[in-house]
Amino acid sequence: MTAQIIDGKKVAQERLAAIAQAVSQRRAAGRKNPCLAVVLVGDDPASAVYVRNKKIACGQVGFDSRSHEMSASTTEAELLSLIDSLNTDPAVDGILVQLPLPVHIDSQKVLERILPHKDVDGFHPYNVGRLAVKMPLMRPCTPKGVMTLLEAYNIDPVGKKAVVVGASNIVGRPQALELLLARATVTICHSATTDLAAEVASADIVVVGVGKPGFIKGEWIKPGAVVIDVGINRQPDGKLCGDVEFNSARERASWITPVPGGVGPMTIATLLENTLTAALMHDAN
Ligand code: NAP
Repeated sequence: MTAQIIDGKKVAQERLAAIAQAVSQRRAAGRKNPCLAVVLVGDDPASAVYVRNKKIACGQVGFDSRSHEMSASTTEAELLSLIDSLNTDPAVDGILVQLPLPVHIDSQKVLERILPHKDVDGFHPYNVGRLAVKMPLMRPCTPKGVMTLLEAYNIDPVGKKAVVVGASNIVGRPQALELLLARATVTICHSATTDLAAEVASADIVVVGVGKPGFIKGEWIKPGAVVIDVGINRQPDGKLCGDVEFNSARERASWITPVPGGVGPMTIATLLENTLTAALMHDAN
């Protein structure tokens, strides 16, 4: 069997087109453009690229975006004060603080300062908690993007055995909650899991977010399984690869996401969907 490719780039473009249309309709109805405030602290080059891509995506769909670029010596108090002013600014619908923050700043404290209805990354414990109790509001972007991909390819998680490898706050944990919400039977694996190969081999759907190139062996994949690779790793030649051995996994899976061009584009598309949702909630209040 050779797996079919799940094309995240294509699905993300379709989502962006739908968002752009919703923005045009808002404008025609006399409503303001959704506005995303992006906060970058320090000079991490990868973070600067992510922030730039998010601003470009905002422009593509007709959102306003505001950029707050702060020096690496910014204090926690200064950052919290900026968050407070964005929280109370009626022009701002969504607030995104690019991670990682410099080590002298408590990231969790900063994320918890963002008002939950402006938390378009979905990282606030309130929003993660809402997902846990089957009342999702702002959903963490990468796991929600994965669910959008499954839906786009008519892959129904109901009753399936789903194995999530990785248990971080931004990928694995919320991914497990999303799959549970979609009524899969979910197992979460992490660095203390004793027999990872056996867990992966039992999965109808496997979602991997670890951050180690080629970590999941193709031979572990159950024939016919759906493989979603969230990992993004830079190889010595500068090219990107995922956490799954793509070529060998493709020989066993039914569907597989490539890296790049799989989950990555969906994360930004979902961020913009969340910002549109935030703008709609602000209209209603
Ligand atoms: P992270 O915070 O470092 O978490 C990695 C997870 O992998 C942890 O839960 C860790 O377990 C687990 N792990 C490490 N070694 C393991 C092992 N031997 N067996 C099983 N699990 C193991 O990383 P992250 O932020 O979640 O990111 C993971 C990957 O996804 C990275 O490549 C990142 O670049 C990528 N990513 C992609 C997107 C996207 O848009 N596509 C978005 C976010 C992240 P413990 O919990 O036990 O430490």
